[in-house]
Amino acid sequence: MLTINEVRKQFGSFTAVDEITLEIPKGEIFGLLGANGAGKTTTFRMILGLLTPTKGKITWNEKEISYETSDLVGYLPEERGLYPKLTVREQLIYLGQLRGMSRSQIQEQTEKWLKRFGAEEYLNKKVESLSKGNQQKIQFIAAVLHRPELLILDEPFSGLDPVNVELLKSAVHELKKEGTTIVFSSHRMEHVEELCQNLCIMHRGKSVVQGNLKEIKGSFGKKNVSVKAD
Ligand code: ATP
Repeated sequence: MLTINEVRKQFGSFTAVDEITLEIPKGEIFGLLGANGAGKTTTFRMILGLLTPTKGKITWNEKEISYETSDLVGYLPEERGLYPKLTVREQLIYLGQLRGMSRSQIQEQTEKWLKRFGAEEYLNKKVESLSKGNQQKIQFIAAVLHRPELLILDEPFSGLDPVNVELLKSAVHELKKEGTTIVFSSHRMEHVEELCQNLCIMHRGKSVVQGNLKEIKGSFGKKNVSVKAD
C-alpha cells in the first residue's frame, strides 16, 4: 500500500503540492490527472524520495519513503532520461547495473521486453536513432527492468501514436496482473479510463476530486471529461 498523508511541498513561498492525501492499495493502477503545473511531477518526485515533503509523510508498505526504498520503485520520467549516444543494449546494461542486477538478469529482462514490444531489432541501435515512440518503449523497459514493486509513470502516453499507446497500456495491464502497483499521470481522462478504477484530479497543488473513476465520471454528468490547462 502506498500512503500519502497530508503531504505538502513548498518551493520557497510557492506551494506546489498542498495537503494531498492518497491511499493506493498494492496491485492497483491509479491515475493522477491535472493540467500543466498541477503538481503531479512534484508528487511523483516525493514518492521516489527525490524531494522531501515540507510537511506530511509518504510510506510504502508502512515504511517511510527514503533513499533506501528507491530500488523498490521504477520511474518513467516525463522528460526523456536516456543517453542518446548509447545503444539500447548499453543503456539497459548501465541502468540495470545501477539497480544491482546481474548481467544475466538484465539480458533476460531486456530480451523479454524487447520481444514484447516487437523491438528486438533496436538492441544494437543508438538511442538517438530511434523514433520518439521507440525511445518511449526503451524508457519504459528501463523503468521496469528490475521488476519494481511500485511503478511511477509520468505522462507515459504523451506524444505517442495510438499503436504505441495501446502497446504501453497492455504492458501496464500485464504488470498489474503480476502484482505491480502502478501510479501514472495524464492530462487526459480517456487515457486513464481503460486503465484505472481510482484516480485523483489535481489542480494548483490540491486534490480537487478523488475516488472511483465511474463515480467521478457520473458526477461530471458527461461521457468524456478532459482536464484542460487554465
Ligand atoms: P507538468 O505536466 O507541466 O509537468 P505537473 O502537474 O507535473 O505539470 P509540477 O511539475 O509538479 O506540475 O509543478 C507544479 C508547480 O511547481 C509548477 O508551478 C512548477 O513551476 C512548480 N515547481 C516545480 N518544481 C519546482 C522547483 N524546483 N522550484 C520551484 N517551483 C517548482
